[in-house]
Amino acid sequence: MTNGITTDSGLDRNETNPNSNCLDGKRCPRCGSYGPFEVEVSMRVLLYDSGSDDAEDGSIEYDDDAFAVCYACRCKGKFGDFNDR
Ligand SMILES: [Zn+2]
Repeated sequence: MTNGITTDSGLDRNETNPNSNCLDGKRCPRCGSYGPFEVEVSMRVLLYDSGSDDAEDGSIEYDDDAFAVCYACRCKGKFGDFNDR
């Protein structure tokens, strides 16, 4: 046990976490879901009077302090709480 998380189902560090990109190493600390997760992000947009469009550098930004919600069980926490290690 390296992450201090214990549940009734005995969730533990999982060596077979399938996430390797945006959710690399992420897993719900409550239900064990590998995602998707809702994550609060910052994003720059090109704003017009009529609406918005993607900015040239409109990449989204987030970190482990971002607010996150598990889509499967709706548990809430910081994105960093979803680290599966
Ligand atoms: Zn969950």
